[in-house]
Amino acid sequence: ATQEGFDPEEVGSDIAAAGHGPLPVLAVVGRPNVGKSTLVNRILGRREAVVEDRPGVTRDRVNYEAEWAGRRFKVMDTGGWEQDVLGLDAAVAAQAEFAMETADAVVFVVDSTVGATDTDEAVVKLLRRAGKPVVLCANKVDGPAAEADAAALWSLGLGEPHPVSALHGRGTGDMLDAALNALPEAPAQTFGIAVGGPRRVALIGRPNVGKSSLLNKVAGEDRVVVNEKAGTTRDPVDELIELGGKTWKFVDTAGIRRRVHLQEGADYYASLRTAAALEKAEVAVVLIDASESISVQDQRIITMAVEAGRALVIAYNKWDTLDEERRYYLEREIERDLVQIPWAQRVNVSARTGRHMERLVPAIETAIAGWETRVPTGRLNAFLGEIVASHPHPVRGGKQPRILFGTQAGTKPPRFVLFASGFLEAGYRRFVERRLREEFSFAGTPIHISVRVRE
Ligand code: GDP
Ligand code: GDP
Repeated sequence: ATQEGFDPEEVGSDIAAAGHGPLPVLAVVGRPNVGKSTLVNRILGRREAVVEDRPGVTRDRVNYEAEWAGRRFKVMDTGGWEQDVLGLDAAVAAQAEFAMETADAVVFVVDSTVGATDTDEAVVKLLRRAGKPVVLCANKVDGPAAEADAAALWSLGLGEPHPVSALHGRGTGDMLDAALNALPEAPAQTFGIAVGGPRRVALIGRPNVGKSSLLNKVAGEDRVVVNEKAGTTRDPVDELIELGGKTWKFVDTAGIRRRVHLQEGADYYASLRTAAALEKAEVAVVLIDASESISVQDQRIITMAVEAGRALVIAYNKWDTLDEERRYYLEREIERDLVQIPWAQRVNVSARTGRHMERLVPAIETAIAGWETRVPTGRLNAFLGEIVASHPHPVRGGKQPRILFGTQAGTKPPRFVLFASGFLEAGYRRFVERRLREEFSFAGTPIHISVRVRE
């Protein structure tokens, strides 16, 4: 029997997932209605639409894992841009810009039954400037008669148009071959390569919480060690910053430094950036404006970091502006709104005055240490044995489920699999997690516990 949908396979996949790095990312870009979603679904090998967007609902999920010809990669679906708010051209441009910054290669989709529009031409200029590989997908070529329409797209100057019918699957294989050829074997910075290299930090938070101020403060007003050049790494927008005697890689800082010019509709853009930064980082520093009430958006960003399985530091910024009353209410808000993450590392800082900047690095280091901790099976089981003896599971229906043994299936973040003789109640599971955290100091990291019931 399984508990909480736990699947025995999961143990294996947990182990496989542990320590394996990010996959190369292929972005699908183009105007609305050219067939991007249809193509993404085709690539993912499923028929249903990629999460129907409801108006007003922000979609955080942008990357989907896919496989073609034995290669695994991620497809970035940039559909769902708020073009009503942004206007068509701005939305498509923002999408292209985002894709160029965060993806390893781009599939640019054009509706060949319509031909190249002004918007398409404008996007081509953006794509050319960034210098990442682009594969031109001439979509809606449903039959041989339409091939001529595809050929007309040579005029875009992006090289060979690949005639495709995303709807029927025609030509998608050849197009994907070309796209995968353009993808690097693995992203230039994988977990493997990064061993011993600088730690990757995602500085995230809603607009105006002080991200760029903090970045400037820690970088000593542009005293950035190296500004990596485009083409030399997976992403030209990571910055190496020296802090506390170590070098750290702050990922995806372009989105922080270059203030998003789009006022409205910037939420979705920001959310995509957050997802992309988390994807590449080991630790998330979530900045919160402590002078204001903790918002739903703050909580969503924290949830994204936790769900991405990153080590977590919460930095309460603008501490210089807090009076005693606000400090009181802030603590109440933290108790109420952030109750699920009592384990997160916390620092109270001011990017303006530099207050407690020196506490940032120890907090990050503690979080990463917890994130990477591996408990030897012997120690884990000695500990589980003590728990079972001193705090047995309550008797239910004449039975008393016991934890039989456990193992840590992975790190980054730590994943545990417990084998039990019966269903463990949620309260008991929480108790076990709390004790695990105390015993092995998993500070600043989410931990996953799966329970497998043995009959
Ligand atoms: P998106 O806005 O770019 O994501 O476009 P969609 O994937 O939602 O497709 C827009 C419309 O074009 C839908 O009605 C699709 O069924 C249709 N479409 C997509 N691909 C093809 C294709 O290859 N051939 C034809 N005939 N229609 C297509
Ligand atoms: P971002 O949108 O998250 O990058 O936020 P910014 O760094 O642009 O900061 C937004 C505003 O908050 C600016 O006016 C900053 O000067 C101000 N700000 C940032 N950090 C602090 C701080 O620690 N204290 C105070 N008082 N203001 C701050």
